[in-house]
Parts: sequence; C-alpha cells; structure tokens
Amino acid sequence: MAAFSRLTVHEHKRLGIYIHVPFCLSKCAYCDFNSSVCNDPEKIKRYIDAVIAHMESYREAAESYEPDTVFIGGGTPTSIPENELYRLIKSVKKIFCLSENSEYSIEMNPATASARVLSKLRRLGVNRLSMGLQTADENELKALSRIHSRKDFFRSFRMARDAGFENINVDLMFGIPFQTLDSLMHTIRYVASLGPEHISLYDLKIEPGTAFYNNFEDIKPYLPEEDTEADMYLASISLLRNLGYNQYEISNFSRPGKRCIHNMKYWNCDEYLGFGVSAHSYFNNNRFSIIADVDRYIESFFDPVSKVIVTENLESVEERERLGEYIMLRLRLADGIESREFTRRFGYSFEQLYGDKLVPYVRGGYMTAENGIFALTPKGMFVSNYIISDILEFEDFGRYYFGS
Ligand code: SF4
Repeated sequence: MAAFSRLTVHEHKRLGIYIHVPFCLSKCAYCDFNSSVCNDPEKIKRYIDAVIAHMESYREAAESYEPDTVFIGGGTPTSIPENELYRLIKSVKKIFCLSENSEYSIEMNPATASARVLSKLRRLGVNRLSMGLQTADENELKALSRIHSRKDFFRSFRMARDAGFENINVDLMFGIPFQTLDSLMHTIRYVASLGPEHISLYDLKIEPGTAFYNNFEDIKPYLPEEDTEADMYLASISLLRNLGYNQYEISNFSRPGKRCIHNMKYWNCDEYLGFGVSAHSYFNNNRFSIIADVDRYIESFFDPVSKVIVTENLESVEERERLGEYIMLRLRLADGIESREFTRRFGYSFEQLYGDKLVPYVRGGYMTAENGIFALTPKGMFVSNYIISDILEFEDFGRYYFGS
C-alpha cells in the first residue's frame, strides 16, 4: 500500500494555472491586452462566477496533475471588489490540488494597493506580486496615461514588503515617449535600490487598436529612435547585471533563484491551463484559447440555451510544430538550447538540423555556441524575432525532416 501511495504521488504531473481578470480602473494609452474599465459590480461578480465554473469544468481532467504555479493576471486583478478577488483566490485551491510551496502570483497596479488587501492576499497564500511601474519618471508615466505616480509605487512596494511579500516583480518599459537613455538608467537604478527579486523590461510596441496607434502622428516625434532603443536595451542589460539581476529571458531579469516559475513553463513548453477570456492553454498535447468577449464568456456558463463555445483554435500539436515552438521559445531564454536535451526530446540532432543556419549569427556575435549549448547574446535578443524566423523557415523544415 505504501509503495502504491508513493507511486501515485510521483504520477502527479506539474501544471501552471493562469486566470485572466479583464478589468482595469482606466485604459492605458499603449495597452492592447484584453482589459476594459468596468463600473458594474454585478457584471464582475458574474464574470468571477463564470471563471469558477470554468475551472470546475476542468476539475476531473486535471485530477492527475499537481499545479505548482498560479498566475492571476489581466487587466488589474486588484481593481475588482475585494470579496470577488478573495473568492477567486480561494476557489483555485478548492478546485485544484495545488502542490505545497506553489508559486502563487498576482498582478497589481500601484494605484490599487492597500495594506489591508495586501495582508489578506498574503494570508490567502498569494506569495508573489507583479507590480506595473513601467517608469519612475513622472512625465513618462503621464505619457503612458498610467494612473499612479512614482510615490504611489514606492508606498505600494513598502506596504507589500510589510505585508510579508518576499518575492516581488516590477514591470518596466523602454521606448516610451520622452524617455532618454539617462531617464531609463535612472528608473532602473531607482527600482533596483528597493531590491525587488525580479524585474521585467519590455519594449513598448505600438499595437493596433490602442490610443497610441490611433494618435500615432502626435506621439511619433517623442518616441526614441530605433538605434536609441537598441542602446537602451543593451545598456539596461548591462546595468541590471551590475546591480545583481541576471537576464534569463529576453525581457526578464532576476536575483539568483528568483525566476518566475510560471512564465518558465511557457518557455519550456510545459503544460498550463488558462481560464477567463483570451486565456491560452497547452494541455494534454492540445493548444487552445478562450474567446475574448466577456459577455459571451459569461453567457456560455449561465445561459442554458446559450450556444456559445468558449474554446477556440483547438488543435493538437504535431511533432514538427512542437519542435518549432521549442526552438522559438527556448531561444528566448539565456539558457538557450542544449543539444543533448533537444535530441532527448525530439530524436534529432540540433546541430545537424540547424548548424549551417547558425554560423553567420555566431560569427556576427548574435549567438554563442559553446559546449553543445546554443544561446542568443544580448545583441541577438534585441533582434530575436528576425533570427528565430530566419532559422526556422517552416516550409523547408517540414519538407526535409518530416516529409510532409
Ligand atoms: S493597467 Fe495594465 S492591463 Fe490595465 S490598461 Fe493599463 S496596461 Fe492595460
């Protein structure tokens, strides 16, 4: 019996759980996430009801899993009524058999923090906060139409520490209107002086549908030039390294041992389930996403005659796609691709498949190839999209190695 129990425990597979809360207090000018302002508590309540019902519908399918990460993102999860947020957090634990010491993260806008809520979150088992600062420069914050000041962030950060959060990420951006290399370096030094365990640094992209996109001509004169952006990125990596933050992914930096375990699942091609609108999943060798429309999502769970199907793009992932995804995602990581691990997973030699393609990138200093490990350098990471799509060339790849 004891042996059987041990075996059963070992059989539990790891799983990440993502929950999308698509509500914010106001819409930032650059934001293309699925998020909107909602002043209707009843609608928010019904949305949380739907997410809980959605998770319930996976209770059985996830029985053989032991989720070790939960990430509540958005949107601004801390902008919804407190009781709804607590109900959501508790329900995850009731429905899934979370492993002990799971990483439980929540995203927070510094304008939405209070000492009471932070303490309660900590007591409920949330142990990692991701705070969106973006920049410590007040003019740049205004340009982004963020609703908080640098002071709000400082206060929230202190309150989070006082509440017992020992694992905090701070989101930053570069390429912001009015931003200079100096102001970015100042932001990084300021944030690092507070000692968060993790810093994310994203390149501002002007996406269709955002206020920036719709008023592009107005902001264009204030955006840093592309060359300046490259300088910003490389200088940030080097400053962060000097301040004790190692780059482990294109946009992510951490103190030793403090990588985001949840996000690592995406880059390692591990399994995860997403709940709520626009959430993505990779589960049981299937990739799928959830519809983006909040009303239809709610309707699908509570309207008995509803014909809404919440899941779309259900597709089983074939080997060649898995291989392409693995390369694309692993090259985002500073760890890169280890050829022995590649062969163990796919049965092919990475060098034989891609060696010739990689030579110019290695010679040009965009990539390193040492001891069977292939990884992008910081310079290569800045143009990673180009390099990865050049290396992969899906058409040729399929024809030569998989005979399709
Ligand atoms: S707070 Fe975040 S999710 Fe909400 S609008 Fe701003 S960037 Fe988007």
